[in-house]
Amino acid sequence: MLKFRNTLSGKIEEFRPMREGEVSMYYCGPTVWDYGHIGNFRSALNADILRRYLKFKGFKVTHVMNITDVEDRIIAKSQEAGLTIDDYTAKYIDALWEDFDALGCERPEIVPRATRHVPEMVALIERLMASNHAYKSDGSIYYRIASFPDYGKLSKINFAGNIAGASDRIDTDRYEKEDARDFALWKESPSPGETGWDAPIGRGRPGWHIECSAMSMKYLGETFDIHAGGIDLVFPHHENEIAQSEGATGKQFVRYWIHFEHLKVEGETMSKSKGNYYTFRDVAAKGFSPAAVRYFLLSVPYNKQINFTFDALAGAEKTVAGLKDFRARLTEAKTSSGNNAALEATTAQAAQEFEAGMDDDLNTSVALAAIHNLTRDVNTAITSKKLLEDNKLQLLELLKRFDSVLNIFGEERHEMLDTEIQNLIDERQEARRRRDFARADELRDELAGLGIILEDTKDGVRWKRK
Ligand code: AMP
Ligand code: ZN
Repeated sequence: MLKFRNTLSGKIEEFRPMREGEVSMYYCGPTVWDYGHIGNFRSALNADILRRYLKFKGFKVTHVMNITDVEDRIIAKSQEAGLTIDDYTAKYIDALWEDFDALGCERPEIVPRATRHVPEMVALIERLMASNHAYKSDGSIYYRIASFPDYGKLSKINFAGNIAGASDRIDTDRYEKEDARDFALWKESPSPGETGWDAPIGRGRPGWHIECSAMSMKYLGETFDIHAGGIDLVFPHHENEIAQSEGATGKQFVRYWIHFEHLKVEGETMSKSKGNYYTFRDVAAKGFSPAAVRYFLLSVPYNKQINFTFDALAGAEKTVAGLKDFRARLTEAKTSSGNNAALEATTAQAAQEFEAGMDDDLNTSVALAAIHNLTRDVNTAITSKKLLEDNKLQLLELLKRFDSVLNIFGEERHEMLDTEIQNLIDERQEARRRRDFARADELRDELAGLGIILEDTKDGVRWKRK
């Protein structure tokens, strides 16, 4: 039975989607003012594990991830660079997908951009104004927190004493907001030189929170199953999303809230503002593979913090290499026909432990332990020639199932046939005889690219797979 910790109830709950067999989920995606750091990717990766596991359980998943491509930093940076917002963010959106693909994350079904959904945000703000949840002040529009008694139900922060209500108006004239905690839905941008959109509510630009309410409800409906994001978003972002959406519709906005713990560096959250961050590119430039970064980030369950160290990353690199070697050894193992019943039972047990771990609030470390125990047992079976043909097929199938969720064994490489390899080697020898060394080197490189290492020995050329 699949269970998650729901931030809203604070409890572990059985997951049951609204519509049988289908899941609607929204993940608060990146703000594309710069390259994402690997902390950001820890959250994106956890959303990937979540969607993949839901698919593993047989659900049809509609996953929406927004791209925040307008906010104050983006406006300031694009102006500094003398570029339009679209031209400025294009580079970071391209980089985002490059990193996403390299990390082996599946792309969400729907990826709405804030700048393409301003009319939907304006419509939602109009709805909030009509129902008295929002007010205009000095050209900007604010959400009236006092109008939403449930405010604080997600973060469990008690605002009772803090919100200046109707009877407590003494100081409020000093603010352009009625209450210091009210937040902007629409920021006035009166001059044509400022970034803004002309709208019936006045020329302006949207606040960050309204974008997620408008886009999630547009694509997933007024109530949907799962809303996920980093732990930092619980307050105020998600609390505000609830106030906006439920204020406008009067319906429950999200049924399960799932929040991912952060990647830390020496006890502090990895973040741009603290300067203690590594982008994916920084880590790749130090020679680490994307597969190792993925393994490192998913090796700790989403609900626990991870501390980033290069040693841990180096450890992940070794583990990933070990997993790939294991799969290659299994694929290439020569087996006799038949089925070893004990090994079949070991295989079934690993499958069951993997699923039990993932069912338990996506406990990836239990799932990985099941995989590592299995590889150990199978390695022993291969060495002692106890692996039979049926076992091999069951195991290869199970690795595929595991990888449909964790994607740590990686794509299967097209294994070249020995004869194809030999033909390339013969062609290289022929080129060397002709003293066409350029061609010979080209063929050596081509073979290296295919993972074939050549050794020139006195008995001729030997080759092996990397
Ligand atoms: P941003 O680009 O800042 O909007 O963040 C994109 C996503 O990354 C959000 O879901 C954040 O909660 C998440 N995030 C930011 N910093 C970290 C971190 N150090 N570890 C994990 N997730 C993070
Ligand atoms: Zn959001």
